[in-house]
Amino acid sequence: MAIERTFSIIKPDATKRNLTGKINAKFEEAGLRIVAQKRIQMTMEQAGQFYAVHKERPFYGELCEFMVSEPVVVQVLEGEGAILKNREVMGATNPADAADGTIRKEFALSVGENSVHGSDAPETAAEEIAFFFSGLEIVG
Ligand code: UDP
Ligand code: MG
Repeated sequence: MAIERTFSIIKPDATKRNLTGKINAKFEEAGLRIVAQKRIQMTMEQAGQFYAVHKERPFYGELCEFMVSEPVVVQVLEGEGAILKNREVMGATNPADAADGTIRKEFALSVGENSVHGSDAPETAAEEIAFFFSGLEIVG
């Protein structure tokens, strides 16, 4: 399997509870390398654009409000099959459905406040990385 890069966000519920290191340990234990990382306060404009794919969903407004409620940590993760591997480490969207040992099973509070975002495909990974990082900020 090829080396890939995927985009990750440690969400406000997790930064607020000081879980950045514990979540990063999960990525590293799974063989994912953090090749770019920064802590930012997302703006409403960024949140709205980033989640534009969900614009028509009933939770869109609440999701955007949540994403700007506290700082987030945006990241690029690199490794063999990183996109799928990260989705496995994250666990299901709803923590009630997430497998044991996954980030969402251990840390998520609810289907909305679910601690992490991860890209779902190569195209979205490339788009989402470029949305938050310049090439110079990514050091593999
Ligand atoms: N979300 C929500 N309610 C739902 C489904 C999703 O609040 O019923 C939020 C949740 O924070 C989720 C994000 O919207 O992580 C994006 O949803 P998606 O279906 O893409 O889930 P993900 O890819 O994050 O697992
Ligand atoms: Mg998604």
